[in-house]
Amino acid sequence: VLEVANVVKRFGDTTALDGASLKVYEGEVVAILGPSGSGKSTLVRCVDQLEAIDGGAMFLDGELLGYERIHGHLRPLTDAGRRRQRRRMSMVFQQFNLFPHWSVLRNITEAPVAVHGIPEREARARAMELLERVGLSDKADAYPRHLSGGQQQRVAIARGVAVDPRILLFDEPTSALDPELVDEVLQTMKQLASTGRTMVVVTHELEFARNVADRCVFMAEGKVIEDRPADEFFRDPRSARLRAFLARSG
Ligand code: ATP
Ligand code: MG
Repeated sequence: VLEVANVVKRFGDTTALDGASLKVYEGEVVAILGPSGSGKSTLVRCVDQLEAIDGGAMFLDGELLGYERIHGHLRPLTDAGRRRQRRRMSMVFQQFNLFPHWSVLRNITEAPVAVHGIPEREARARAMELLERVGLSDKADAYPRHLSGGQQQRVAIARGVAVDPRILLFDEPTSALDPELVDEVLQTMKQLASTGRTMVVVTHELEFARNVADRCVFMAEGKVIEDRPADEFFRDPRSARLRAFLARSG
C-alpha cells in the first residue's frame, strides 16, 4: 500500500529524515518507535504531504506521491492533485483537531459529504455506525468541548475511518491524554486493527506496539534502524540503540 524510499527532509540545518525507508502492506499495522527528535512525526507528515520532501520518493498503491511525471520529467503536483492523493489517507493527531463549532456527527460526516460526495443520509448512517463502534453513539449531537480527551480522540478516529482511507496514520494519538483515558483509545485502535485496516502508528506505548502491531520500526536520527515483526523486535533487538531504547522505556 505505502512505500517510503530513501526520503530526505531538512528543516534549515536540521536533517529530520536522512534517507528513511519503509514499506507497509495491505492490512498491516506498523508501529513506529524511537527517541524524541528521531523523525517519526516528520515521516508521517511527509506521507500525508503536510511537508514537502527534499529527496527520495513515496508511493501509495504504486502512485508517486506529491509529483507527477510529464514527458518523463517530475513536476510537483498542483494543490488539487495533492488533495486528491491525500483523500486516500487519514491522519489522527496528538491533539484531536476536531472542529469545535461542529457537532460530533458533523465532524465525522463533513469530509465524506463535502470531499467524497457521499449522500448526506448515507454519511450520517455510516457515522452513527462508527460512533457505535467507538462506544459514543449517545454523543452524536454533543460538541467536542463537552467530551473528555479520550472521547474526542475516539471521535477523531471515527472521523478518520469515515472516509474509508487506504491507510490511517496516527501520530502519538494517546500522548496528550490523561493516563486514565489512554486505555480506551488504545482499545479503539486495537479493535480497528482487528478489522484489517492498514495503519501506521507513531507511539510511545510499547505494550500496544508489542500486542497490536504486526511490525515495529525503530527510528533514530532520521533513519529506520530496525524493522521487524513485533515479537522479534522486542525479544531480540539487533541494534545496540534499540536495546538501549527498550531498556530505557521499560
Ligand atoms: P517526538 O518523539 O518528540 O515527537 P519525533 O521523532 O516525532 O519526536 P520530529 O518531530 O519528526 O521527531 O523531528 C525530527 C527533527 O526535525 C527534530 O530535530 C526536530 O527539531 C526537527 N523538526 C521537526 N519539525 C520541524 C519544523 N517544522 N521546523 C524545524 N525543525 C523541525
Ligand atoms: Mg513526534
